[in-house]
Amino acid sequence: MAIIGIDLGTTNSLASHWDNGQVQLIADETGQVLFPSVVSYLEGEGLAVGTPAKDRQLTHSTQTASSFKRFMGTEKNYTLGDNRYTPMQLSAMVLERIRKNAAYALKQPIDEAIITVPAYFNDKQRSDTKKAAEIAGLHVERLINEPSAAALAYRMHYGEQDKTLLVFDFGGGTLDLSYVECFDNIIEILAVAGDNYLGGDDVDWLIAEYFCQQNGLQWEMLPPPAQAALKKAAEAAKRNLETAPESTIELTFDHADYQIRLDHDRLFQICLPLFTKIKNLFLHLLNDAGARVSDIDDLVMVGGSSRLTVVQRFLTELLGKEPVVLGEPDKVVAIGAGVYTGIRSRSEEIRDLMLTDVCPFTLGVECWHKETSLQGYLLPMIERNSTLPASQCQHLVTLADYQKEIVVRIYQGEEYYAKDNLFLGEVRIPVEPRPAGTEGIDVYFTYDLNGILYVEVVNSQNVRNHILLASQSLSKAELERYQAQMQQLLIPPLQREENQQLLARLVTQFENSLGRRREQIRMLIDWFVEGLQSGRQHIVRRTIEQTRQQLAQLEQWQQCEEELLFDGELKQDWEPEDEENQ
Ligand code: ADP
Ligand code: MG
Repeated sequence: MAIIGIDLGTTNSLASHWDNGQVQLIADETGQVLFPSVVSYLEGEGLAVGTPAKDRQLTHSTQTASSFKRFMGTEKNYTLGDNRYTPMQLSAMVLERIRKNAAYALKQPIDEAIITVPAYFNDKQRSDTKKAAEIAGLHVERLINEPSAAALAYRMHYGEQDKTLLVFDFGGGTLDLSYVECFDNIIEILAVAGDNYLGGDDVDWLIAEYFCQQNGLQWEMLPPPAQAALKKAAEAAKRNLETAPESTIELTFDHADYQIRLDHDRLFQICLPLFTKIKNLFLHLLNDAGARVSDIDDLVMVGGSSRLTVVQRFLTELLGKEPVVLGEPDKVVAIGAGVYTGIRSRSEEIRDLMLTDVCPFTLGVECWHKETSLQGYLLPMIERNSTLPASQCQHLVTLADYQKEIVVRIYQGEEYYAKDNLFLGEVRIPVEPRPAGTEGIDVYFTYDLNGILYVEVVNSQNVRNHILLASQSLSKAELERYQAQMQQLLIPPLQREENQQLLARLVTQFENSLGRRREQIRMLIDWFVEGLQSGRQHIVRRTIEQTRQQLAQLEQWQQCEEELLFDGELKQDWEPEDEENQ
């Protein structure tokens, strides 16, 4: 049994596997590695998946489903033939075909996969992706984020130096930007931004529009086969520009000939409306990441539309430096997924890597302003783009006089009013009946890498209650294990016992020192506390590691100095003897 990596894309899907120290993409029986994520119904023949389905997309649009990944996690229905299918079921068909292709190519059954998903996918979208895989006969050990996969592929190519990357994933219908830090063996997504309706398709539409405008035609007036032909020709002309200086589109409708010529400058002009949107997304991302353009070491371009030289040119102008295009950009995410399968199968060629994620949406509780208590607003507990695992606490007070209970209602989303967000669950806790605002509770939120949210509330009598919200169904044993892990996470790094001990040792060093050394230790203590309170996992880890090293050195110095004070003989007198010598 083998494990494969899958990039389950909006437009195209790909599969990869780890073989003899490198990633191989898996081709179908016709030698293609890009598998269109399209399903179509053929009268009398049933459902077609992949290229045959894509070929029917424009001529039989009512019987063809594509870009359904955009609606993953919803109950949207696609009617094909006599049946209706959800995005999850359609994705399952694509995954099943990929599994069969891979089994054929690798000559062995495939039962496990690492699947990539957009970093912003919420719990429902992730659990539906897992369900789709299960229907397709694939067990999914872990979903990894597409930008993390791209960063893995980047590191395979450029080595493992510490880098800050901006992953620009421009696909058929979506643009996803991610701010990613690679530090040691940790890949951390610090912020994400994206547009679910901005991709290569829009470029095709703009070209088709330009064609109509130049030839005095109106898109709406064209018969469907002519529309289909124009859309297809527009995409072909766009792709052709990857290597050619110029493309032409020539079409005949109703015995009349129409044509346009397209060069890079013209296409640049045509794409200007898209560039404005891209620029705004950049600003949004940098703002959320609290970063500047100069903080980015490399802009890594992935996704099929990153092949557009006009987009590369625009980004070079925007950022003042050349972006990195990794080989064939539409294959990079699948290659990263393949690298990860290598890590999973404990391959010797690559050492363990940790992928950390961000929370793509805000998690919060419903609260009321005293004067305007008509509608509850959402008080953010864990803000979007927080690094996972994340833990936060807030103190909430009673709203009404002599209220006996507080109901903590938990939501996910970015809307101001709580009711406009996705309701996840609630916890109730009794409180002492006292005048409004004088009695309160502490609310703790912990959200981990597996998309599990643990909420604990504590009242002033130290009575506790909690709820564990998980996107997947968990067994009782798993629930208990998670609960124990979450309890551990609830303690902020600085409060954890082992770190308190480190702090105590630092303080001892401070007390035993004088002058410049003492001042340096004071700075080390400040730096340690600040690092542990940073809320960023890798900074916490790095801080602890470096503090341990420094402390070991300080303690060694201290010992040497003591040895100099007492001479060797005197010291031996009071040193405890080894057990064997007694
Ligand atoms: P997704 O991630 O959405 O599944 P891909 O990364 O496979 O999609 O990108 C598909 C998009 O890439 C399509 O819009 C396609 O037209 C575009 N594309 C593919 N090759 C080229 C090329 N040579 N030049 C420009 N665009 C291209
Ligand atoms: Mg993609």
